[in-house]
Amino acid sequence: MISNPNPGDPLPPLREVIKACGLHAKKSLGQNFLLDLNITRKIARAVPGLAKAHVIEIGPGPGGLTRGLLLEGAARVTSLEKDHRCRPALEDIAEAYPGRFRFQIGDALSINENSFLEDNSHPVHIAANLPYNIATPLLVKWLGLEPWPPFWESLTVMLQKEVALRLVAEASTKAYGRLSVLAQWRSTPKILFHVPPEAFTPKPKVTSSVMQIIPRLPKPDGLLSGDISGFTKVLFGQRRKTLRNVLKPLGDQVAEVLKDQNIDPGLRPENLTIDEIVALANAFKKSS
Ligand code: SAM
Repeated sequence: MISNPNPGDPLPPLREVIKACGLHAKKSLGQNFLLDLNITRKIARAVPGLAKAHVIEIGPGPGGLTRGLLLEGAARVTSLEKDHRCRPALEDIAEAYPGRFRFQIGDALSINENSFLEDNSHPVHIAANLPYNIATPLLVKWLGLEPWPPFWESLTVMLQKEVALRLVAEASTKAYGRLSVLAQWRSTPKILFHVPPEAFTPKPKVTSSVMQIIPRLPKPDGLLSGDISGFTKVLFGQRRKTLRNVLKPLGDQVAEVLKDQNIDPGLRPENLTIDEIVALANAFKKSS
């Protein structure tokens, strides 16, 4: 007798679901599906306080991670999927988990996930196997929310390893840049584990990583995300230039501000630590 590898799973194997829905993967939607519930359940278990959580999931597709979250005991899951072909698969999940799962068809880039929250009785956590083509804009959106801390208590997301490395990169390394600053300024990003291309259908070219981002309060510096976002756009716009040149568009006071902050104008943007970048953004804000 073959034992069921997912006891308690009331739904058919994902391969059958994909076939029944005619869900051939679309590259334009970043569709690389996870069909192994052992992996999706592992991601689900990484969500902090899952049993009390209302998980917002972006891009459920045929429902691999959705089912992982529900099997691992998420209090509630609300998923947002752009591809209407997934509707029957998601309807079956809703039927199998009454009162715990609902979904919407829509575009994660233009929706305010806050609107999914009917009540505040459960802490909100975001989980996703992100479509790679929009992973960075979604992260920038979630990391740029005001007020801070935001409505979500954690992000547990699968993305390209290369993007994950940028999020956790330290100053003076190749991967360090705008995304590292936007993330580390007021959250703690951490890589949990890597997932090889073979785990996905179809198989992508690159390795993926599951990472977790937990918001934290920044030092009280009077800066809003728009200030850091705007400043880092200028700062990392031309990485090969020195600070003296790259910051020129900010006005005549560049030399003076750098001197006041004790920062060598001959350094390159990637040599600045997060604290130095925040101090500079603040100084330029005050001087403008
Ligand atoms: N969660 C599934 C899994 O783990 O197998 C699918 C993950 S697949 C990498 C990304 C999913 O995001 C796809 O189902 C895709 O249709 C969906 N998607 C792509 N762009 C989207 C958007 N703008 N808004 C919402 N979902 C989107």
